[in-house]
Amino acid sequence: MNAVTRPHGVSLWHAVSRGRRDRPTLEGALDVDLAIVGGGFSGLSTALHSVEKGISVAVLEAEIIAWGATGRNAGFVVPNFAKRDPDDIIAQLGPERGERLVDFAAGSADLVFDLIRRHAIECDAVQSGWIQPAHSPAALQKTRSRAEQWAPRGRPAVALDRQAVEGLTGVRGYLGGWIDRSGGVLNPVEYARGLADAAEKAGARIFEHSRVASIDHIGDGWALKTASGSVRAEKVLVATNAYGGSLNRTLERTYIPLKIFQIATAPLPREIRTRLLPGGQGVGDTRRNLFTFRFDGENRLITGGMHVFGPGADTRVRRAIWRRLAGHLDLPDIPPLEYSWSGMAAVEPDFLPHLVDLGPGLIAGLACNGRGIAMTTAMGKVLADWADGTKPQDLPLPFAPPSPIPFHSLMRHAPNMVLPWSMLRDRLDG
Ligand SMILES: Cc1cc2nc3c(=O)[nH]c(=O)nc-3n(C[C@H](O)[C@H](O)[C@H](O)COP(=O)(O)OP(=O)(O)OC[C@H]3O[C@@H](n4cnc5c(N)ncnc54)[C@H](O)[C@@H]3O)c2cc1C
Repeated sequence: MNAVTRPHGVSLWHAVSRGRRDRPTLEGALDVDLAIVGGGFSGLSTALHSVEKGISVAVLEAEIIAWGATGRNAGFVVPNFAKRDPDDIIAQLGPERGERLVDFAAGSADLVFDLIRRHAIECDAVQSGWIQPAHSPAALQKTRSRAEQWAPRGRPAVALDRQAVEGLTGVRGYLGGWIDRSGGVLNPVEYARGLADAAEKAGARIFEHSRVASIDHIGDGWALKTASGSVRAEKVLVATNAYGGSLNRTLERTYIPLKIFQIATAPLPREIRTRLLPGGQGVGDTRRNLFTFRFDGENRLITGGMHVFGPGADTRVRRAIWRRLAGHLDLPDIPPLEYSWSGMAAVEPDFLPHLVDLGPGLIAGLACNGRGIAMTTAMGKVLADWADGTKPQDLPLPFAPPSPIPFHSLMRHAPNMVLPWSMLRDRLDG
């Protein structure tokens, strides 16, 4: 495998993106309305929407902007929930809260592309749609039902038959599927840098290499400490996703950290590019061991996969993902591999976004579940309302104290342990 395997922390996007600027490290003391821990989409969208409301904001990022999942994802903008559909969400949360959460997700991709237009963010963004092809008869029923549930909510959601999927993706073998045309693709690092620039232009202070070591309740606010500075804030958002480590051990036990691998080929010849995904959409199929693909602005083919246990697993999984490309996409040869990287996603047990109540004026936002670009951007808008005085109970996202997953130290490995079984079931489905 002649791949350039980048060290953890550097993805294709970090390597090729424009617009990197160094930001200062926090030195000394600062007083703000809202302190945000974490400089990914969640933190940056909240910062931007909050300063636009006149709230003073400091973002403290342990490494650099987009260091976490934000800079390591596939760049699919997906306006729906992984594994959950409007009807079952409404059945679980009730008509009022359920509908509000569904509306929140429905408008999330439009919000991303509106922000990109409004702030003229150069990030190869294309609102070309997000396609979910079905790999089995049961999955086909599910994709039809999804389109039927989203379309009446004003979404550009359409069920696709076998020919339509083949025409859009250039891939044979799928039984049909659905598309939400409000989705699309972008370069996530350039999008994050654009959000950061826009937030700073509007008055936010953003600090890099400023890891928050502690958050303490002092008087009617909070004190955050880094190695070389401190921030006093009325409210604090913890936006550390699966990268929070020891900052809050209780929060860490409320989600499953899922390691996901991504690879990118060298730029591919035009003939392949015009046959596969001529419309430039993002694709994530219905397999349990999800198969995803898209092209970047330079015609690199990008795909990903999950981790399995065992010695040398990291190398084996990269090889397997790379080989899977040729099989699924009917390519004459396996294209040369240029980049491979990995990242951590925070997965909630119910696959829904959550706001976690960590104390008076201290909140954590977890909106990933593999759908983070659109969801975290939309969550940031909602959290700006919270920073501006809206009660968390009145926001469209579920809000509750932390609910640690029982036997977390064991459960955190569950996705890797069941993966071989999921792969076998995918094969039997087919
Ligand atoms: C490989 C992969 C592929 C994915 N693909 C997609 C996709 O195609 N589409 C999609 O919608 N979603 C995708 N996701 C999910 C999406 O990337 C995430 O939901 C989203 O980026 C989460 O953003 P965030 O800001 O909440 O967290 P992150 O981007 O993870 O940011 C958390 C930040 O907190 C910082 N931090 C941690 N501790 C501290 C501390 N003590 N002090 C200061 N800072 C701290 C970290 O350095 C990090 O930068 C993918 C995820 C992965 C891992």
